[in-house]
Order: sequence, then C-alpha cells, then structure tokens
Amino acid sequence: MRTATLITMLAAAAVVCFGMVASAQWGRRAGVEKWTIHDEARPMPPVVDPGPAGPQAPIPADAIVLFDGKDLSAWTTSKGAEPTWRVQDGYMEVTKKSGSIRTKQGFGDCQLHVEWAAPSPGVGTGQDRGNSGVFLMDLYEVQVLDSYESKTYADGTAGAIYGQYPPLVNASRKPGEWQTYDIVFHAPRFDANGGLIGPAYLTVFHNGILVQDHEELTGPTANKARPPYKAHADKLPISLQDHSHPVRFRNIWVRELK
Ligand code: MG
Repeated sequence: MRTATLITMLAAAAVVCFGMVASAQWGRRAGVEKWTIHDEARPMPPVVDPGPAGPQAPIPADAIVLFDGKDLSAWTTSKGAEPTWRVQDGYMEVTKKSGSIRTKQGFGDCQLHVEWAAPSPGVGTGQDRGNSGVFLMDLYEVQVLDSYESKTYADGTAGAIYGQYPPLVNASRKPGEWQTYDIVFHAPRFDANGGLIGPAYLTVFHNGILVQDHEELTGPTANKARPPYKAHADKLPISLQDHSHPVRFRNIWVRELK
C-alpha cells in the first residue's frame, strides 16, 4: 500500500472516530442515569445574570394565544371545570389548592412562550419556594421555581427538566420580576403497538439564555421517580402546576410545529 493511501485511510478513520465521540456528547442523555433522582451531590448550575426584565414579548402572527392577560377561556381544570386562578392586571396567579390548569386544546410538537414571576417577597426554601411548573402534554415538566439565591437539588432548579436534567446555568431573576421561558418541544413517537419509536426532546431558554439544549427525556417527569414512557395521544394539553404557591403567569402563546 502506498504511504499516501495509508495516510488517507488513517485520516478517514480519525474523522469517523471523532464523529462518534461528538455524537455521544450531543445531549446529556447518556449521563442522566449516572445521578440518582434529586441527587443532592449533583452539581448546581452556575449562576448567570440574564439582565433586567424587558416588556412583554411580542406575539408572532401564527401563534395561538393561550393567555392574553384577560381571561382563562383557553384553560380548564383537570376535572373539566372552570379554573379559579385569579386574573388581574394582565396576569393570572395560582390559587392555592384549586388545582393545576390545562389548555382545552391539545398540542404535540410546539414552540411555547411563557412569562412567570415568583412571589415577592420570597417565602420558604428549596422546593417550597415559588414552585410551579410548565408541563408539555401534561406529562413533561419544565420546572418553575424561585431559584434566585436559593438552593435545592440540581434537577429541581428553575429551568430543570424535572428529575432528569438540571439547567445548563441558573438564569433566574429576583422574586417578583418577570421571567421568560421559550421552549421547543418534540413529542415522543409511539408505534401502533404502543412501543416507543422516538423519545421526547426539550430545548429551553430561560430569560433568553439556553438552559436545555435538545435534551432527550427518559420518560415522563415525576417526583422521586423516572417512570418509563407509556404510549399516549399525539396531542395533549399544556398544563400549569398548582404547587400551593402564588406564582404568576402572563403572555402565554404557542406555535405548533408541523
Ligand atoms: Mg414544579
């Protein structure tokens, strides 16, 4: 074999090996089981100041508005009743013990914009401080929590895919200040027999900062558990959690990805 050919082959092999390593590092799915759920030893994300809150984000022309600050007409309770969360001054606020709320319409793959604010002054510690959540398909939670200078387990911080992935950084603003989530969600795919053929993926920007980079979900999110996927409909409601804290939400819209 000529030396030039050998060098070309070695170079090609090196490119293939590098590609395999790079793809293994794409997403943190491979490392998620390394940590037990809510592991206190899991490193906390570094803090990044996102800068001050801006005005409400503009609404794209093709977005479906889920909450425009006026009423909860797009929402229902888990029992199909009218929600009793307080609506005033352009926001809605979790009414303790009234239950989580969900959209009447179902969504699969989507881009979702949510603005939220933790109670001010902040009350409580850890998970018992400004806790709520944005659930895609009522199953996959992006954690809402007052994580400003407040400690909890890493996979339960604001911007965490609850119980699975801590955010890449802690981009939290102070309690009472408006914060944004911009979420890209790809729903899991199931075959006709209910077998999983494609997992769910989440990308999340918290206050404009990337905190989840196309992460592969292990299944539905849960407290102290990582349950496996169970086949479900292609479209399901988006829900907001009542965790007994008066968290506020405003300017919620969604774009379906086709
Ligand atoms: Mg929560």
